[in-house]
Amino acid sequence: MRFDVITLFPQLVEQVTASGVVGRAADQGLIELHCWNPRDYTRDRHRRVDDRPYGGGPGMVMMAEPLAGAIAAVRRQSAARLIYLSPQGERIDQPLLAAELERGGVTFLCGRYEGIDERLLQAEVEAEWSLGDYVISGGELAAMVCIDAMTRLVPGALGHADSAQQDSFSDGLLDCPQYTRPEDYRGRRVPRVLLDGNHREIDAWRERQALGRSWLRRPDLLAERQLDQRQQQLLQEFIAEYEDTRQRRAAAAESEQEDST
Ligand code: SAM
Repeated sequence: MRFDVITLFPQLVEQVTASGVVGRAADQGLIELHCWNPRDYTRDRHRRVDDRPYGGGPGMVMMAEPLAGAIAAVRRQSAARLIYLSPQGERIDQPLLAAELERGGVTFLCGRYEGIDERLLQAEVEAEWSLGDYVISGGELAAMVCIDAMTRLVPGALGHADSAQQDSFSDGLLDCPQYTRPEDYRGRRVPRVLLDGNHREIDAWRERQALGRSWLRRPDLLAERQLDQRQQQLLQEFIAEYEDTRQRRAAAAESEQEDST
């Protein structure tokens, strides 16, 4: 998988391959990262990449020409789509990233300052993606997020082949809770089922938790999918257990209050 990033801060973006999963994937040749600095495509002595906005107002705007030069240079090496990271774009999610991965490569365009001259965007950009409804200072962190999330989906990038399939959103649900040693952490115990070694029970417990967590925290995810009969049963079990625990806790809190008055 090839990632190209057009950025005024290549040293920042390159950090994404410095460690962890993405670093290993780069070392193994599963991904390639190439950064392109628009400053290298300026024609003036000062290597200017920005200018004041027409119509006045605060801040600076990235000029079209240096970016067009960088884009042309990338396109000589890659046929991938050009995606502008922008707060005005389509919200990034797992299906969006997985679909882009299928195309085999991607070029990210990172804005800075007040943004990029609109004419360059109209002429060159094929999609706009947003991290969410907030504004950050540049597209670099957004590009790094996408590179990390997409690399996790590249076959062989994760230590264990199933890891990505278990992640939240990979099958449209949240992941189940995870536990490790010790068995007892300050009075909170690991669920018994995970210690018994019965893998059918463990799988059912994990699926029940994934369904239940999604029901509790992200009901929109459940609304978007059709549960089969077994999943409906698992979810009903989770809900019954959840309601039971809630009622027992409320009763305990009430009797504690009565004792203290
Ligand atoms: N004036 C612009 C606006 O309000 O739409 C924001 C400019 S922002 C300070 C500078 C750059 O950061 C943008 O050009 C974009 O590349 C990036 N950026 C900011 N917020 C982002 C977000 N939520 N998702 C992706 N990129 C973002």
